[in-house]
Amino acid sequence: MSRRNRRGPPRRASSAEPLHHRGVAQLTLETGLRRAVEREEFEVHYQPIVSALTGEVRGFEALVRWRHPERGLVAPADFIPAAEETGLINGIGRSVLRQACGEAHRWHPADPERPAPYVSVNLSAVQFLQRDLLAQIDEVLANSRLAPGRLCLEITESMLMEDPEAAARTLTALRERGVRLYIDDFGTGYSSLNYLHSFPFDSLKIDRTFTAKLGDGEEHRGIVQAVVAIARHLGMSVIAEGVENGEQLELLRRLGCENVQGYFFSRPLPAPEAERLVRRASVNLAG
Ligand code: C2E
Ligand code: MG
Ligand code: MG
Repeated sequence: MSRRNRRGPPRRASSAEPLHHRGVAQLTLETGLRRAVEREEFEVHYQPIVSALTGEVRGFEALVRWRHPERGLVAPADFIPAAEETGLINGIGRSVLRQACGEAHRWHPADPERPAPYVSVNLSAVQFLQRDLLAQIDEVLANSRLAPGRLCLEITESMLMEDPEAAARTLTALRERGVRLYIDDFGTGYSSLNYLHSFPFDSLKIDRTFTAKLGDGEEHRGIVQAVVAIARHLGMSVIAEGVENGEQLELLRRLGCENVQGYFFSRPLPAPEAERLVRRASVNLAG
C-alpha cells in the first residue's frame, strides 16, 4: 500500500469491470478475503501506547492481521486495499471492533487504582462513510460493555476532506457518546489546516516517517515541533508513532510529546501477551 493513499478514499472496482482488467492475483485475493470473512480468519494484535515520561501503558492500538490458512499471518498492507475496493472492509472492520472492545473489557491492571488502558481502532474511509456507523459503534459498545471513554477511533486526514461538514457531524456524534478520536498519520495525507479546528479530536498521531527523520537534523525536528504546537493550540495531546530508539524518545520528550508508540517499547502483541502487559502496567523506557 503506498503511503500516500493509506486509508484515503479507495478506488472502487465495480463487479461489472471486465475480468482481464482486474487480474488473476487480485481475484484470488478477493476470493480468499470473502472466505476469510465467513471463516473469521482475522485476528487483532495490540501495540502499547505509553507515556513518554514514565513508560506507563495508556492504551493499545488494535492492528488487524489475516491468519491465512497457507500464507500464515498476512499484514494489513497486503489485504486492506483489496478489502476496501470490494467493500469487504466493512465486515472485517466490524470484526476488529468487536474483538478489540471485547478484549479491552478484560484489561485490568494489577493495581486497581490505575486506570484501565483504552483500545484504539483504525477506521477505513469506507467504514467511516457507512450510514450505520454510529449504530454499529453503539451495538459493539453495548455488547462488549466497554465504557465508551475506553474506545478510541483513529481517522486519517484524507477521510475528512471530501465532505468536511458531514465528517464533522459524524465525529461530533461519536464524541457525544464519549468515544475518543485520534487523527492518524498526521502530515502524510491531504488536509486543510482551516478545517482542523472544526473536528473534535482528542489526540494527534505524528506519523512514523517524521519520527524516523528526527535524528537527521534541525529542520526535521522543526517540523515535529510545529506539529506539536498545532496540537497544543487545538487542545490535543500528541502520540508519536514508530519510535525505534532511545535518541528518538529523548528528542520527542524534549519537544513535549506526551505519548509514544513503537518497536523500541514493543511490537504489536497477540491478545494474551497484551493482557499480561496490562497487568504489569508499564514498559521499560530504556528499550
Ligand atoms: P497505522 O494505523 O499507522 O499503524 C501503525 C503501523 O506502524 C502498524 O503497522 C505498526 O505495526 C507499525 N509500527 C509500529 N511501531 C513501529 C516502529 O517502531 N517501526 C515501524 N517501522 N513500524 C512500526 P501494521 O500493523 O502493518 O498496519 C499498517 C497499517 O494498516 C496501519 O497503519 C493502518 O493504516 C492499517 N490498519 C491496521 N489495522 C487496521 C484495521 O483494523 N482497520 C483498518 N481500516 N486499517 C488497519
Ligand atoms: Mg493507526
Ligand atoms: Mg498511524
